[in-house]
Amino acid sequence: MKNVFVYCEIERTTVQEVSQELLTKGRKLANQLGVELHAVVAGTDIKGKVEDQILPYGVDKLFVFDGEGLFPYTSAPHTDIMVNLFKEEDPQIALMGATVIGRDLGPRVSSSLTSGLTADCTQLEIGDYEDKKAGKKYDNILYQIRPAFGGNIVATIVNPDHRPQMATVRSGVMQKAIYDGKAKGEVVYPEVGKYVSEMSYAVKVIDRHVEAAKNNLKGAAIVVAGGYGVGSKENFDLLFQLAKELHAEVGASRAAVDAGWVENDRQVGQTGVTVHPKVYIACGISGQIQHIAGMQDAGIIISINNDPDAPINQIADYVINGTVGEVVPKLIKYYKQNSK
Ligand SMILES: Cc1cc2nc3c(=O)[nH]c(=O)nc-3n(C[C@H](O)[C@H](O)[C@H](O)COP(=O)(O)OP(=O)(O)OC[C@H]3O[C@@H](n4cnc5c(N)ncnc54)[C@H](O)[C@@H]3O)c2cc1C
Repeated sequence: MKNVFVYCEIERTTVQEVSQELLTKGRKLANQLGVELHAVVAGTDIKGKVEDQILPYGVDKLFVFDGEGLFPYTSAPHTDIMVNLFKEEDPQIALMGATVIGRDLGPRVSSSLTSGLTADCTQLEIGDYEDKKAGKKYDNILYQIRPAFGGNIVATIVNPDHRPQMATVRSGVMQKAIYDGKAKGEVVYPEVGKYVSEMSYAVKVIDRHVEAAKNNLKGAAIVVAGGYGVGSKENFDLLFQLAKELHAEVGASRAAVDAGWVENDRQVGQTGVTVHPKVYIACGISGQIQHIAGMQDAGIIISINNDPDAPINQIADYVINGTVGEVVPKLIKYYKQNSK
């Protein structure tokens, strides 16, 4: 009881990375709270095929719901599973991916349990909270941290009285790591019929089209990212040339995406992809908080900007003061020259 739960998303029998990232975070939270980490997965014909992708992340107990009609995901059966399981288990924290599925499932579960939910958290921490008005103190509650008010502030949201404290997190925001501590690793296979009503299978998926990502921005070791300062679609070609030389991926700010210079799946930031490359080269990007949210954990940040006071320069390891048009062709030329 009062444990930390993670809902694990699957594609047939493949557990999604965002869920493994959340398991790693969930394990840390559970350790801090001195409770167990539990995971839930639901699908069709998954018994024996998903456990090894979940348990190594430090799970004490895994609930595998295996039954017809649980894959592809539809809202009602998965909501029934989570709501009824949570009524039995009474978790204190529940985490889900801020994915198409998590965005559908999370609010349904939280409204059924009247628990509240914070979407798109960028950090999750444990801390104390004092409600001065009510004169109440709360120990060890979940700080659900995310940009708010259009990114002008970073808000810490707490849910003192209702359980579970629910949060969704985008893929790539947390980092997954196999747990090297001890976890119980128990697996149970509850009877699906006890949790899901027959009515919940009313929606049947007749056809499904899944498109693979066109780039590997999230996993790239080097990202060359362009912003509004790149100036045109043609100038973005320079960034693609540099990326080719460096075996990097091209990213972009929202301003560059909105200008139509680059596809929107290359957007880095709060409403785009979160990246953790070894090197991030920001070309003509000012460094607004919504952009920084998606790249601040990069190992080395290089800023190319014609404004020496651009905010991104404050977090950059190296600043090249100049225009994209001057600097990027030189980088390409000298990289080619020196890597022969
Ligand atoms: C709710 C919300 C969510 C958002 N989500 C995101 C998000 O996920 N990702 C994101 O990026 N933004 C996001 N934004 C938008 C964000 O606030 C900024 O508007 C955006 O990041 C600015 O992009 P930019 O830095 O490319 O453009 P600008 O702010 O216009 O900066 C351009 C920079 O280029 C420099 N420059 C100009 N010309 C040159 C040149 N020739 N050579 C070199 N440098 C030059 C300028 O000095 C400046 O620093 C979001 C906003 C909101 C409200």
